[in-house]
Amino acid sequence: MQETTVFTYRVALSPTEWDKASAARRAAGDLWTRLVKIHRFCRRRHWPWPTESQLKAHFKQRFPLHSQIVQALIEKFCATIDGVRTKRQNGDQQARYPWRFRRYFNPIFKGQALKRQGPHLLLPRGRGREPIRVHLPEAMPPGRVVQAELGFGELYITITREIPDPVPMASGKAGGLDIGVIHLGMVTDGQEALAISGRGLRSVKQGRAKAQAKLRKKRARTQPGSRRRQRLNRAQYRTSQKAERVARNALHHAANQIVAFCLAYGITLLYVGDLGTLNHHQRHRRSRRTNQEVGALEFGRLEQYLEYKLRRHGIQLVKIREAYTSQTCPHCGHLTKVAGRTYRCRACGYRAHRDGVGAVNILNKGMHGAIRPGEFLVPQRITYRRPVLLKRALRRSPAEPREIAGGISGGESGGSLRGSHDPRRSHGGSPRISVL
Ligand SMILES: [Zn+2]
Repeated sequence: MQETTVFTYRVALSPTEWDKASAARRAAGDLWTRLVKIHRFCRRRHWPWPTESQLKAHFKQRFPLHSQIVQALIEKFCATIDGVRTKRQNGDQQARYPWRFRRYFNPIFKGQALKRQGPHLLLPRGRGREPIRVHLPEAMPPGRVVQAELGFGELYITITREIPDPVPMASGKAGGLDIGVIHLGMVTDGQEALAISGRGLRSVKQGRAKAQAKLRKKRARTQPGSRRRQRLNRAQYRTSQKAERVARNALHHAANQIVAFCLAYGITLLYVGDLGTLNHHQRHRRSRRTNQEVGALEFGRLEQYLEYKLRRHGIQLVKIREAYTSQTCPHCGHLTKVAGRTYRCRACGYRAHRDGVGAVNILNKGMHGAIRPGEFLVPQRITYRRPVLLKRALRRSPAEPREIAGGISGGESGGSLRGSHDPRRSHGGSPRISVL
């Protein structure tokens, strides 16, 4: 089976390479801005939008970039435009065409233009210009590099590789997954359930928001273009990048744990509640706080990670409409809106963990097309996990039993399901450890 995956690496560039990279990112920003301007110009006059090939011909050799980078950026822009147009035609008037002028933009290097030289990857900048040399990480997976995107201190490498075909599981069982804020994920097969805490991730996001607000305040008191402002800009960027890395890592670990659960209990089909189907009005009816959290956490990413990680094991991910799955009583089918963490049915008095209700109802709805009362109840035993321990926390408490650390953090190959089933221990954990 062939798999194409994007790997993110932090890259340290020497000052010379950094200058070259900046020049390329700057040129890419200029090109993107030009495209935005042209598009806006045409739209305002109701003129036809130039075709991709016309744009490619027009911008040929006009920017200090490799011709294929120019083409790749034009393709990206056109794909974005097409995507927004489709959304608007489908009634989403909130969808906005690219409008922001960009000073910097990540250049995209395509496979044919990339060269590997020993431990280095050469990113071409066009005829007569020295390529950017990036030292590749040693732990890079084998396979063919098809694309590289150069970010600010980060490199996104797309690799196509042959991976072993998944061994089909005979069980053919279905599972339900509820993605949320308090718990990043609650997954169940109807008998067992696993809850992955989202608390740590949320606190990281909140911490970032606070730090950013502080920096913004300081920044407002500086002169545009001053050294101090530049320094604060960089600090702001670093803070958000760091939070982004922590979040990404947590989401990967959460996804791995869900995969491990599916493998352990023979789930071959995983139903997941689809948040993306909310329309504009539904979005507005939610509280602003919920909206922020939902937006900030980017649930779509967890789903995205899950999709390819599950595919490696031949497990299918199926999205279903999430409507009413958190309100319907799994026991009698009565609708109750819940505010707290515990679901309590007004009709029959059924009580269960709220996210557990969501997960079993998603499973129920996925299997039967609608929620059949009494078919699946929230499992008695729920295993609580955190996606990953923070390094800082580990350093602070070296005396902590190893079992916790070993059981919680899983590698790329899938989180382990070891550890305790005791909710008292896993729920609160040790008060000294701040965990993610
Ligand atoms: Zn009920």
